[in-house]
Amino acid sequence: MGSWLEGKTLAKEIKEEVKNEVAQYLKKRKEVPGLVGILVGENRASKIYLRTKERNCERLGIRSEILFLPGDIEVSLLKAKIEELKSREDVDGILVQLPLPSGFNAPEIIACIPPEKDVDGFHPFNLGNLMMNQEGLKPCTPLGIIELLKSREIPIEGKRVVVVGRSRIVGKPLAAMITNENGTVTICHSKTENLPQVTSEADILVGAIGRGAFITQEFVKLGAVVVDVGMNNLADKAKVEEMFGKDEKRQNDIKEKGYTLIGDVHPHVIDKAEFLTPVPGGVGPLTVAMLMRNTLEAFKMRRNLA
Ligand code: NDP
Repeated sequence: MGSWLEGKTLAKEIKEEVKNEVAQYLKKRKEVPGLVGILVGENRASKIYLRTKERNCERLGIRSEILFLPGDIEVSLLKAKIEELKSREDVDGILVQLPLPSGFNAPEIIACIPPEKDVDGFHPFNLGNLMMNQEGLKPCTPLGIIELLKSREIPIEGKRVVVVGRSRIVGKPLAAMITNENGTVTICHSKTENLPQVTSEADILVGAIGRGAFITQEFVKLGAVVVDVGMNNLADKAKVEEMFGKDEKRQNDIKEKGYTLIGDVHPHVIDKAEFLTPVPGGVGPLTVAMLMRNTLEAFKMRRNLA
């Protein structure tokens, strides 16, 4: 049986570092980083994610605002709002919470964020820098995964890494980061043939699909490191019991919320893997920590601070 590769402790450490540095800038320069999140429409999960980011900012001394915009806002008005934030001196980071309501072209909107304030690292300029292995703001979830592997001294160089999922926010940037770390990457997606055969060659396997417990033991090589990015709500009591047995926390989740949060990787994979990141408590906390760090980085870059 392998070990759970938790992300909570590392996330806490990273946030503590950010907090200390922010406090120093407040003392020395009488200013702190500022982050603005934009929520278009009423997506409940997006609202929760933004509130979590806001709460984290508060704890670390970062100033934050959330701009709530109606789901039927004109594209030109949304762009004008971003333009306003672009010229605000006290705003170091701008993020547009995804997904946008249907009818919006996310890449078109994200391209309006100035690259130096793009703390999600999704702007084509920043993604271009990532492809060229240059400095710049990088997407938070993949960055968190790399930090997690490094913190546990899990080697990437020379290793066979398979990433399942090719989204612009997780799969593709992660593949670029792994390439930059000298790993040998395969990206899989819904059209990949013989998926379990491909994934079971991986020394490091990443699931970023959005399908609960999709990756089962047959997808995994014995002793592999498995990173679970997925966040899926599972309401089926029988399935929860099959996965987690009589786990009290899971049963309480079902009782209190009607669902429990699971990843893309079946928890029984722990019996075959060397490491598996848990859901919750694995990659998720690191994503927020990296956003906080990126916001501090953006603050420093705009002021030419070391
Ligand atoms: P997307 O929906 O944008 O992408 C999903 C990817 O999975 C696509 O590339 C898709 O392939 C692929 N896929 C879907 N079904 C299959 C299949 N049967 N076999 C192989 N590949 C498949 O998702 P995201 O990247 O945005 O998110 C993925 C998961 O990670 C979600 O659960 C999300 O909630 C979670 N997430 C978690 C974060 C965290 O902080 N922990 C942060 C961001 C996301 P194709 O391209 O062919 O359609």
